[in-house]
Amino acid sequence: YAYLYRDRLNKVIDRFLKPVEKIDLKVNSKDLDVESLEFKTPDEFLSILNIDKTVSTVDKYFVGGYDEAEKRLKEFIEKKLYKYKEFRSDPSKDYTSNLSPYLHFGQISPLKIVLEVLKHYDKNDENVVSFFNELIVWRELSRNFCWYNPLYNQYEGIPQWARQTLEEHKKDKRDYVYSLQEFEEAKTHDPYWNAAQKELLKTGKIHNYMRMYWAKKIIEWTEDPKQAFDIACYLNDKYALDGRDPNGYGGISWCFGTFDRPWQERKIFGKIRYMNDKGLERKFDVKAYLFKTDRS
Ligand SMILES: Cc1cc2nc3c(=O)[nH]c(=O)nc-3n(C[C@H](O)[C@H](O)[C@H](O)COP(=O)(O)OP(=O)(O)OC[C@H]3O[C@@H](n4cnc5c(N)ncnc54)[C@H](O)[C@@H]3O)c2cc1C
Repeated sequence: YAYLYRDRLNKVIDRFLKPVEKIDLKVNSKDLDVESLEFKTPDEFLSILNIDKTVSTVDKYFVGGYDEAEKRLKEFIEKKLYKYKEFRSDPSKDYTSNLSPYLHFGQISPLKIVLEVLKHYDKNDENVVSFFNELIVWRELSRNFCWYNPLYNQYEGIPQWARQTLEEHKKDKRDYVYSLQEFEEAKTHDPYWNAAQKELLKTGKIHNYMRMYWAKKIIEWTEDPKQAFDIACYLNDKYALDGRDPNGYGGISWCFGTFDRPWQERKIFGKIRYMNDKGLERKFDVKAYLFKTDRS
């Protein structure tokens, strides 16, 4: 559970919040005796790689590299962090850091982010506490989960109680059942779900709150929870810039009951936490989210 992990982490965290010492490298990588590749443009280089070119590029939304990561961090600290606690869950707004792709590819480190934030804010500021809860507690919890659970990216890796309750409800009638292709092409009956999937296809990232909704609905609209788990991992890993990451497997497993507790039993979900469109409508201006994803 996150709260147990948070308590343990808070006791030791200060020890780690120190800049990394610069060390001189013994060998310059340019002097290494390795075979090199000749190419004149990045496109030429990309053409020789075995990559899935059906996935479109998202450079309108994300440009890679450390400079870009630093720019986003600066913008986050200056313009968004002061409202992070209030707005971080609202998918119609843009108050999160959008640093996950850069963290995923190692283009910025969590330590650098934390130290930079602490240059401008007190560590007890409620927005900082909320941001560090995601960046440190949940991120580390996901790493911990993947390190200790060899089935971290499989349905079989979710808690026993969650698997049992989902299996008990496997025979429940589903109002909608979609194939992988229908999910992938954002062709469900639900405009909110489709918007989240389109956001993923277009920008390479879904807002955190919509990610939860997105995975929960895949559970609701597939015949079998194991198949749902595989579809969520497949789409997240294929299209998300920050996919193929412990946070992704932690996030998807969370939607299947990991780090969570049993809730009131209901159809299909059994005792795992349920989410519905009414909740989205109640909490946020979800029409603004539709507008945003349509326009972007
Ligand atoms: C179904 C599902 C799938 C997900 N897939 C991924 C994924 O593939 N890659 C990924 O990095 N995150 C994933 N997450 C976690 C979370 O949604 C993203 O980390 C977050 O939306 C990234 O946006 P941000 O950088 O603007 O977040 P911010 O709110 O600015 O948070 C800062 C950083 O904290 C970390 N963080 C935030 N929320 C979480 C979380 N719930 N769990 C673990 N770390 C977190 C991330 O490193 C993030 O970049 C997933 C969550 C769910 C529910």
